[in-house]
Amino acid sequence: MINIVIFGAPGAGKGTQATLLAEKYDFLHVSTGDLLRQEVRLGTPLGQRAQAIMNRGDLVGDDIVVPLLDRALRQRSTLPDPDAAVDPWDRERKGLPHRPEGCIIDGFPRTVSQAQTLEFMFRKMERRIDLVVAIDVPREELVRRIHERAAISGRADDTEEVIRHRLDLYDQQTQPVLDYYRVSGMLVMVDGSEEISDTNHRICSVIDAKLNV
Ligand code: AMP
Repeated sequence: MINIVIFGAPGAGKGTQATLLAEKYDFLHVSTGDLLRQEVRLGTPLGQRAQAIMNRGDLVGDDIVVPLLDRALRQRSTLPDPDAAVDPWDRERKGLPHRPEGCIIDGFPRTVSQAQTLEFMFRKMERRIDLVVAIDVPREELVRRIHERAAISGRADDTEEVIRHRLDLYDQQTQPVLDYYRVSGMLVMVDGSEEISDTNHRICSVIDAKLNV
């Protein structure tokens, strides 16, 4: 069992890599950006509060994002499995949901205070974060990628001005999270400037090394 945080600036490819890793290792993938976008789509009270903030490229409040993350983490897999006695093959035959043993969190934490909250949440679940993978991409490449994505995503926060704001916020508020994790020894930096498959290969080597310890 391994719990991973995937970390990086907007455009670094966190979502893409987290999706690939979740498929390969059968992790539960929790993306706070996706959770928030879903709330907005569904027009829930949380979504209504988050929408304008997200469109500006600001960070939504912890009072919105933390309950969403908590709910998603508790949905399955991260809590002790009540059906643990059921053999996995039996589970499949009986049509019970698959329960991956690890999770990959993408988009959280974005501030040092969120990093502390995440640690607290995991401790309550008698789990811990094992690895923080930070995807490192030079600024010019980030901007190029976000523009490329903007052309197809239709995301309201992928406009020129908002992109610049999101990158500035990353520098001011999210970058310090790296130091927080560096001190704890969980952090591994991975070069993400090349192709998706190159980055994926690098991250898989880090995870495999961790799984084999
Ligand atoms: P992302 O898909 O990770 O780029 O997130 C899109 C937007 O959702 C961000 O620009 C924020 O407005 C909001 N968001 C996602 N995760 C968080 C978080 N951990 N804290 C605050 N806001 C978040």
